Amino acid sequence: MNFALRMSELYAPTLKEEPAEAEVASHRLLLRAAMMRKAAAGIYTFLPLGHRAVRKVEQIVREEMDAIGSQEMLMPVVQPAELWQQSGRWDVYGPELARLKDRQGRDFCLGPTHEEIITATVRDELRSYRDLPLSLYQIHTKFRDEMRPRFGLLRGREFIMKDAYSFHASQESLQEHYDEMVDAYGRICDRLGLEWRPVAADSGQIGGSVTTEFMALAESGEAALVYCTCGWAANVEVAETLVARTPSITEPRPMEKVHTPELRTIAELAAAFRVSTHDTVKTMAGRAEDGRLVFFCIPGDRELNPFKASRAVPGMRLLEEEEFSVYGIPKGSLGPVDPPADTLVVGDRSLRDDIAWAVGANENDYHLFGAMPGRDFTVDLWDDIVVAQPNDGCPMCGGVLEGARGIEVSQVFQLGTKYSEKMEAAFADESGAERPFLMGCYGVGITRSLAAVIEQHHDEQGIIWPMSLAPAEVAVLPLSSGDDIVAPLAERIWSELARSGIEAVLDDRDERAGVKFADADLIGWPYQIVVGKKGVAEGLLEVKDRATGERTSVPVADVVARVTELVTSARARLGSAASTDLAPPA
Ligand code: ATP
Ligand code: MG
Repeated sequence: MNFALRMSELYAPTLKEEPAEAEVASHRLLLRAAMMRKAAAGIYTFLPLGHRAVRKVEQIVREEMDAIGSQEMLMPVVQPAELWQQSGRWDVYGPELARLKDRQGRDFCLGPTHEEIITATVRDELRSYRDLPLSLYQIHTKFRDEMRPRFGLLRGREFIMKDAYSFHASQESLQEHYDEMVDAYGRICDRLGLEWRPVAADSGQIGGSVTTEFMALAESGEAALVYCTCGWAANVEVAETLVARTPSITEPRPMEKVHTPELRTIAELAAAFRVSTHDTVKTMAGRAEDGRLVFFCIPGDRELNPFKASRAVPGMRLLEEEEFSVYGIPKGSLGPVDPPADTLVVGDRSLRDDIAWAVGANENDYHLFGAMPGRDFTVDLWDDIVVAQPNDGCPMCGGVLEGARGIEVSQVFQLGTKYSEKMEAAFADESGAERPFLMGCYGVGITRSLAAVIEQHHDEQGIIWPMSLAPAEVAVLPLSSGDDIVAPLAERIWSELARSGIEAVLDDRDERAGVKFADADLIGWPYQIVVGKKGVAEGLLEVKDRATGERTSVPVADVVARVTELVTSARARLGSAASTDLAPPA
């Protein structure tokens, strides 16, 4: 792929002003550095430089998929509803699935993911254990009508994903390929220059039980993680935790009922009872699948984790505001003592040794103080149901958890037979018996990864591309374009760099030095070679390293060799895709 990297010809309208709608650095810089433009909320056009960076992410991912024997293919964006009806997801996917009708009135959707299509594609022809395992992937556009598209490429509605799907005859074979994918995903993150962590996670709409998310660490990330020095890490959505509790009341006391009309919050309740919020217990109400009421009791200073709560009571959902009156319970004053008949009481396991709970009395404006489990009420089930937080104990080793925020750049899943059973995709095993495939699926957010890289690599001036993704590796900046020594020298250095296999851009625009420097820093070329009159007269050119800001004077005669060496070693560190498919200008 040839790319004419003369700035005078390149379509890259950079912006001086901060785009008002951009809340995070990557969104701001992708717009300012002329990488992309918005078409509609969460839908973007990639301009030449941005497209080139996207292609580089894709190429890295492609190389790593090919290396583990997954085969590239391409599936349609528009998918027939029947397949989604067979898998059962047509009804459960909700408004994120964009549905449309063709001129005959038949139902279709825009693919948010491709489990249905891939399963339907192989099921009639992949029939024998001899043809397994099989792994296929594509790099393509996805559409999800996200409720809140935001942060530019981080949460778009139309975005590019690499999605792979694998088919297996046995769990061992699935596990083996899953492990290869996990390793490949780690290498992809490394090659993108990301600081990342693999974390335990929830499998969401995709399904299955074994899953890992790959998180790029960033303050702007939407995900909260907890991790331990022992290596354990999890998305707080699912993270198990050990809550450290030191209740201040250590002797049993009689239970008292107190009139508390003015107490609205846990903090007010704690103050009134002269205990810490930590000693109070809050109760949240849910509805089990069979309609039975469920009370979840947790420490007053913690949050209920709805994922873990519904794992403890499968099929449970928390009550909606208007349901409290249906059940005849006071939302602000719930507690485990004398709840409505048949209520299932679930206690957070950290409360197990607390002997004097401050709880609601299931009666408006009344609380109970000193309620003792086993004496005053019964807890039917103890489980871990609170949101994990930093300083909790690690469930693996007991160490102290730390917290971080992350951007989920990719996720892998073992699906088991979830889709193959529903969609009747089976193979004949060695004995000739029909068995459903075991499946895995594996997704990398190409455009989200690109944005995550910028979240981690930027400064006030602009993007600081890792060598593996920079739209070009070196920029040559002649400071007086009209000058009859400077201009030809810059041109010569640029073409020699290109000849030595470096992706080089020549800023041959008729612009002031300040404009060229500002654009070079904004776009983020990893190295800049400054060709000015003074330097030329002294026989020395300045080479600037964008990442460190360091400037080195290099003799004119050595500059091509020196910069080629710098680029080559940076490429080697990151296993850059630059020198392979995306060839420099001839
Ligand atoms: P999220 O929880 O952030 O909505 P997800 O778990 O639904 O994402 P997956 O179904 O696991 O996403 O999709 C695989 C990858 O596709 C994600 O890891 C992410 O990198 C990317 N991706 C998902 N949704 C979006 C989006 N709205 N915009 C950009 N990339 C996305
Ligand atoms: Mg995911």
